[in-house]
Amino acid sequence: MTVMTTKTNLLGLTQPQLEQFFETIGEKRFRAGQVMKWIHHFGVDDFDAMSNIGKALREKLKASAEIRGPEIVSQDISSDGTRKWVVRVASGSCVETVYIPQGGRGTLCVSSQAGCALDCSFCSTGKQGFNSNLTAAEVIGQVWIANKSFGTVPAKIDRAITNVVMMGMGEPLLNFDNVVAAMSIMMDDLGYGISKRKVTLSTSGVVPMIEELAKVIDVSLAISLHAPNNALRDVLVPINKKYPLEVLLPACNSYISRLGEKRVLTVEYTLLKDVNDQPEHAAQMAALLKDTPCKINLIPFNPFPHSGYERPSNNAIRRFQDLLHKAGYNVTVRTTRGEDIDAACGQLVGQVMDRTRRSERYIAVRDLTGEAPAKPAASQS
Ligand code: SAH
Ligand code: SF4
Repeated sequence: MTVMTTKTNLLGLTQPQLEQFFETIGEKRFRAGQVMKWIHHFGVDDFDAMSNIGKALREKLKASAEIRGPEIVSQDISSDGTRKWVVRVASGSCVETVYIPQGGRGTLCVSSQAGCALDCSFCSTGKQGFNSNLTAAEVIGQVWIANKSFGTVPAKIDRAITNVVMMGMGEPLLNFDNVVAAMSIMMDDLGYGISKRKVTLSTSGVVPMIEELAKVIDVSLAISLHAPNNALRDVLVPINKKYPLEVLLPACNSYISRLGEKRVLTVEYTLLKDVNDQPEHAAQMAALLKDTPCKINLIPFNPFPHSGYERPSNNAIRRFQDLLHKAGYNVTVRTTRGEDIDAACGQLVGQVMDRTRRSERYIAVRDLTGEAPAKPAASQS
C-alpha cells in the first residue's frame, strides 16, 4: 500500500537535483556525491548506514528525506538465468523488470509506465491501456533493486548490469522528464556508471520527443518499426498515423547524426506471421532504411492469448533475415529468453489498476496468461 509522505525521496534525484536538495536544507553540496554513492553503489536505504555522514546530519535527513524504491511483489529466476521482478508503483499498478544475462553482458529491461496508451496491435502492455507514469525514483528504482540482487559492493557495480534498455512496459518518451532523470543516474559514475552507448531508449515513434531527447541526453536510440510502409504501420503501430515514416526516419537520422562517433540506430521489427514477414516487406525495408546508419533487430512475435497474431516459422524468420543481410544490413534475431517466467518481449503484463474505477469490475489481465491474478487488474472492455 502506498504510504503518504511529505519526505523527499532521494532515490530519483540526479546529482544536480540532490545538490540542490542539500542546499535547500542548509547543507554543503558535496554531500550529494556521498549520499548518491551510498544509495546507488551500496544499495543503502537507511541513513544510519551512511558512516561518513555525522549523526546530526543523519537525523536531519531522516526527518526530511527517504530512500524509497518500488515495492517488490515477486522475483523469479528462469532456468536460463533470466530474472524478472514485478514491482508495485505508487499508482497501485504493477510493472515488470527483466534481467537478461548473455555472454559477458547483462542487460536490464526497464519499464517506464504502468500500461501504455499507444495500443500497438500486437503488444500485451498496449492491450491494458494507460494507467500511470512512473516517477524517476520508480524508474531508477528498478535498476537499484536489480543491482542489489547481485550484491552491492562497489567492485560489482557495472558488472552484473552492463546495459540498460528502456524496453519494458510503456512508452518512455511519453514520460520524458522522469525517464531522462533516471537515465542520467544510470550513466553517472555516482550512480551506475553505464556508458551512454549501453543505455538505450526504445520508442514507437513519438517524433517531437525524439527531437527533445537530442537536446538533453546522448543515449542510444531504438525505434519500433514493425512495418516498412505507412499503410501497414498505421495498423500495427497506431501512432504512425500522427507521425508517419517520412517524419519518423528523418528525426531518427538527425538524432543519430548528432551523436556522431559511429553510433547507429537500432531498428526493432517484430515478425508477425503472414502480416509483415514476407519477402516484399524485407525488400521495402531495405529500401526504406538505405540512408539510415542502423542495425536491425528482428523480434519473432511472442504470443499471448487472444492476440490474433502468430510467430512465423523459423524458415520464414531466416528468409527475412537473409534478404536484409544480402541487402547489406547488420541483422540479428532476438532470442526469446525467460519464457518459463513470462519474461519475453511483449509478454510483460504487470497488473494495471483501473484508475478511473469506472466500475468496481476488474478483468484479470493475468487470466489471459492462465494465471490467477494476485491483485485486481485492468478493466478491459
Ligand atoms: N514502448 C516502447 C518500448 C517498449 S516495447 C516501444 O514500443 O518501442 C519493446 C519492444 O518489444 C518494442 O519493439 C515492441 O514493439 C516489442 N513488442 C511488443 N510486444 C511484442 C510481442 N508480443 N512480441 C514481440 N515483440 C513485442
Ligand atoms: Fe506501448 Fe511500446 Fe507496447 Fe506500443 S509496443 S503499446 S508503444 S509498450
